[in-house]
Amino acid sequence: MSDTIFQLIPDQPAYVPDEETVSLAEQFLRSHLPGASEVYAEVSEEIRFIDAGANYESVSCPICGKEIANEWWLAAMDEAYESQFNNLDIVVPCCGSKTSLNNLDYHSPQGFARFVLSARNPDIQGLDVRLPEKMEQISGTKLRVIQSHY
Ligand SMILES: [Zn+2]
Repeated sequence: MSDTIFQLIPDQPAYVPDEETVSLAEQFLRSHLPGASEVYAEVSEEIRFIDAGANYESVSCPICGKEIANEWWLAAMDEAYESQFNNLDIVVPCCGSKTSLNNLDYHSPQGFARFVLSARNPDIQGLDVRLPEKMEQISGTKLRVIQSHY
């Protein structure tokens, strides 16, 4: 059986809220996604890449909009991995702009984080559209929604 995982990560990869906030955010998400088989918060020592699984199709430049070749992106990921994803700075090949691997236009969204809130197989149709916004208020940071499919 395949799984869909609804994930929320901070916009800033290194950001981790304090323990109390992490637990509040987890409880809030759990009570607002009753259909999910599992809801959990994770804080990792290192920055991790949170991918969209089968939902990932392509990546493009946030500045000029051109699609970025997968080979180039993979090489940039390898290089960033050497710094445990602490240095995500890149110069994109399309227009020579400076940006970050975290800010590329991923279709669908992906990102880097130490703090991840996840819900397994929630009822996405019944999802409150304002939930991410409410979660941002609780977490004290801007969040990115990642829907992974495996
Ligand atoms: Zn570009």
